[in-house]
Amino acid sequence: MKSVIVVGAGPGGLATALLLSAKGYQVSVLEKAHTIGGRSKRLHVGDFKFDSGPTFLMQIDILKKVFAGASVAIEDVLTLERLNPLYALIFPDKRFILKDNVDDNAKILESHYPGSGDAYKKFMHDQAKIFDKVSPILQKPFMSRLNFFRKDILSGFPYLHPLQSVADRLKRYFKDEQLIHALSFQSKYLGMSPYKAPAVFTILAYMEHAFGLYHVKGGLNRINHAFAKAIQQRDGTIETNTGVKKLLVENKKAIGVELDDGTTRHADTIVIGADFAHFMKHHVDEDNRKNYSNKRIDNYDVSLSAFMMYLGLDKIYDAPHHTIVFSKDYKTYVKNVAEENTLPDDLSVYIHNPTPRDDTLAPKGKSGLYILVPVPNVKSSIDWEERKISLKEQTLDLIESRTEYKDLRNHIIEEKLLTPKDWQDDYYVHAGAVFNLSHRFGQMLHKRPPNQFKSIQNVYLVGGGTHPGSGLPTIYQSSLIAAELIDKNQ
Ligand SMILES: Cc1cc2nc3c(=O)[nH]c(=O)nc-3n(C[C@H](O)[C@H](O)[C@H](O)COP(=O)(O)OP(=O)(O)OC[C@H]3O[C@@H](n4cnc5c(N)ncnc54)[C@H](O)[C@@H]3O)c2cc1C
Repeated sequence: MKSVIVVGAGPGGLATALLLSAKGYQVSVLEKAHTIGGRSKRLHVGDFKFDSGPTFLMQIDILKKVFAGASVAIEDVLTLERLNPLYALIFPDKRFILKDNVDDNAKILESHYPGSGDAYKKFMHDQAKIFDKVSPILQKPFMSRLNFFRKDILSGFPYLHPLQSVADRLKRYFKDEQLIHALSFQSKYLGMSPYKAPAVFTILAYMEHAFGLYHVKGGLNRINHAFAKAIQQRDGTIETNTGVKKLLVENKKAIGVELDDGTTRHADTIVIGADFAHFMKHHVDEDNRKNYSNKRIDNYDVSLSAFMMYLGLDKIYDAPHHTIVFSKDYKTYVKNVAEENTLPDDLSVYIHNPTPRDDTLAPKGKSGLYILVPVPNVKSSIDWEERKISLKEQTLDLIESRTEYKDLRNHIIEEKLLTPKDWQDDYYVHAGAVFNLSHRFGQMLHKRPPNQFKSIQNVYLVGGGTHPGSGLPTIYQSSLIAAELIDKNQ
């Protein structure tokens, strides 16, 4: 039986391990942290349970494909709930809630931005075509520029609009800058500004509005646990507290790994599910990665980061599941944070309030609130240990003054803060750039690390730093691609 070592038990590593164990490979997952899940792990703060990272789950078809690859019906292992409404959007002068229904949303937008209802319907109609043309490109490996001659790419390429940004594209439909922000804040899922993110990412808003957003009972971290259980049922192993120190290479062929404790493990194939840039720099000899020198890695354009507040409250607020609070000058905010690596005082904040629909996350009558502030990554000069205290107060001021959480401070009984430096040091994320290498056009397709590593044989790459990109559905897609490549190459 062919053996595979998977480095890292994050979503990318686990999904690949499941697919390969279902194909009959002997799979061993090695995880440096004390628990599985990576940036998507479950976080315990007192008696409260949080998702560390992802809370928006879309395009569940791809997740279903991963489970189907192991003959698991998703309904048997996870409780999924389609969200309606989708989210509340709070601007300085108005607030509205978008629904899981295009006709409803057209009416809601029309009432706030007269004349925009039909434009929104046209936008959704056009995006459906773009989505159909572009998604096949993201479902296949992209190993070199020669792939541009593939049929799916030739037919999808005209829809990529490589020279336009998300905001440029939206301006063709909508005049009001605020409405553009309402349909482009999703660029932050890529850690980018909508004024820089490639136009094709207008499909993010489309996918949310057309195919919905989901909550998983217990949090999105439960997906990792469902993967882990299914891997173990197929005789795969998962070892936590087992860091990989070095990829072992002989004659440009990977033969195994050396662990932090100095022991070695050998396998026919190595899958790297750890953060690509971090793993390359710290665990692969530079001589063995000619396309990824330290200089090149340091020069990558990387995403913004996230300042996190996980709060345990002694009450449950009757507030939406997802709320986005836009800064007064959102355009400047995203420019500062995503392009200039600076943090303005005028913040933008995302609030996740899952307890009203999920009573497994907090003790009775209490709730957990997850607050994410997009901030610069560690390449900025901010001293996060010092800044985090004032940033916390600033964030609470903003939330109390602009949302229904008016008396939030009075109800906090537990708290945990995470800064970009923590993402870097405790989650092994290059530059604390939680959404990985940025998705500017020059770092996509053949310019993004491919799912089969070129300079060392038997090495495959999955996760947000690889093709097709960051975000759970694309990460699962990287696993589907890599598992197929591995099987094909045996
Ligand atoms: C705050 C935040 C919010 C997010 N929100 C969303 C969202 O709403 N929706 C969405 O789709 N995506 C979201 N994401 C992005 C993305 O889905 C997650 O970050 C996802 O967890 C990335 O998965 P991954 O497998 O690429 O990497 P990771 O989750 O980082 O997993 C990599 C694993 O490798 C391990 N590892 C690293 N080095 C070693 C080593 N040397 N040896 C052994 N193990 C090692 C790590 O400990 C980790 O467990 C969010 C991310 C963050 C941080």
